[in-house]
Amino acid sequence: MLLLRNADVHAPQALGLRHILVGGGKVLWMGEAEPALPAALAVETLDLAGLRLIPGLIDGHVHVTGGGGEAGFASRVPAPLLSRYTTAGVTSVVGLLGTDDAARGTGELLAQVHALREAGLNAWGYCGGYHVPPTTLTGTVRGDIAFADPLIGVGEVAISDHRSSQPTLDELLRLASEAHVAGLMSGKAGIVHLHLGDGARGLDLVRQALETSELPPRVFQPTHVNRKKALFEEALALALRGCHVDITAFPVEDGEDAWPADEALLRYLDSGAPPERVSISSDAGGCLPCFDGDGRVCGMDVGHSGALLEALNRLLARGLPLERALPAFTSNPAALLRLRGKGRIEVGGDADLVALDSDGRAHHVLLGGVPHVRAGECVVRGMFEHS
Ligand SMILES: [Zn+2]
Repeated sequence: MLLLRNADVHAPQALGLRHILVGGGKVLWMGEAEPALPAALAVETLDLAGLRLIPGLIDGHVHVTGGGGEAGFASRVPAPLLSRYTTAGVTSVVGLLGTDDAARGTGELLAQVHALREAGLNAWGYCGGYHVPPTTLTGTVRGDIAFADPLIGVGEVAISDHRSSQPTLDELLRLASEAHVAGLMSGKAGIVHLHLGDGARGLDLVRQALETSELPPRVFQPTHVNRKKALFEEALALALRGCHVDITAFPVEDGEDAWPADEALLRYLDSGAPPERVSISSDAGGCLPCFDGDGRVCGMDVGHSGALLEALNRLLARGLPLERALPAFTSNPAALLRLRGKGRIEVGGDADLVALDSDGRAHHVLLGGVPHVRAGECVVRGMFEHS
């Protein structure tokens, strides 16, 4: 057991200074007065001295196997290592496949999800990838979500993108119905996580799906909605109709027709759209190609989970209170993805906790109450990581 003293708790709501007892992976107790604990329990104490304590971040769009592969086979990105997540304050990830769903499959994705779980990270995944028919383990999306424990939906299914399968409305509806029904069967999220490309069709296919079917809007979760300013306006309208929209924390150049994640979240919150229907993910492990003047790929950067804390700190620097910024990184994705015990600091919840230092870095990171980062030092590494 571990007693965290003097934590400035944002659960995400601001609770003020609290002492928190964690044990058995859970938050066991939280209170204002320090508890008298029997010495026989030998509880370790960690004094946070007023540091902000937040729920571990949930990164809902991660290429856990490594993504990429769009500039030849050499551009396939290797799998990010454990500490890339934990040192960034990310305690839960949802893994997925993108363009690479021919060379990589659901079995490999599941193996990597299990590997991260063995290393202490909370990890889930989606069956499928950019393309239809989707890659699966059991042969159907319904079977994968219903019976493969870590699989909670299908994605990232690409629409409005030259790399997509150009799915028809009927194909999208079939995928969504399978995900939805499997979600009902299993108590999992049962969603279609939709990759949006730069195409002018934008979210038209999702609007048609809402108009022509009985499927609840929450089943359709578009991501990368801030990659075009016009697309973002479409996403705001969809959020008002009940969809949950996901913003990507990718780098945005000055003058680009896109919103950086901090700007997008501020615009979302100012728009009057429901504050609980938005999240921010990193696209970690996915490739970020740089193009030269002739449109040739001249360099390849890789998305990383650290983009989440960077976005959070930019939001705070712009004056958004921490308790208003946090839900998009914590409680909102936990609710949509039905990740019980995640995304909040509460008694009985999972002890996935991050203490931020004054610069907004992850100073202490606990996964299920186990310290992975202590005083800024990574103390747990993956099997093939060296310090
Ligand atoms: Zn994508």
